[in-house]
Amino acid sequence: MFSDTLPEHLNANRFVEARESLSGVLQPEHYKRFAEMATLLAGGQVSISGFRDPYGPRKVVGEIRCGVEMTCQRCLQPVRFDLAGPIAWGLVFSEAEMQNLDKALDPILVEDGEFLLRQAIEDELVLLLPIMPMHDACDSGWTPDPEPGDASERESPFAVLTQLKNEQGP
Ligand SMILES: [Zn+2]
Repeated sequence: MFSDTLPEHLNANRFVEARESLSGVLQPEHYKRFAEMATLLAGGQVSISGFRDPYGPRKVVGEIRCGVEMTCQRCLQPVRFDLAGPIAWGLVFSEAEMQNLDKALDPILVEDGEFLLRQAIEDELVLLLPIMPMHDACDSGWTPDPEPGDASERESPFAVLTQLKNEQGP
């Protein structure tokens, strides 16, 4: 099933036992926490499928693909990245089940029979982000301000970093 909107939550048992599959587009307005770190570009997609081996964990596997725009930490101009990563979730119904889960799976807690799909996707998106976003080469039509000026008026790289940190909040 392809959906324009990925649901906020899914019925965990049904999705796994019926081996359901779901694909949908990432709508930037659904990922507010992520939006504080990067701009999600239109066209991102997620595909997931549920299944379970006899007596095994309830699994949801799939992949995420999307483009994002961030601020280059070197030249402070926008820089784009294509992100892609696998999804390997293990749906767990209790803390104990979480402890025993196969380490290859990321635990997703099921509450009231549902798991929070968009929240789980957002966690994956955050993990895919580069820690230090930078252009391969900062020369994409942008050059440093050629105006000669008093060195004290220029912001040091450290001042810029501090300013960025402050803008990004706590
Ligand atoms: Zn750059």
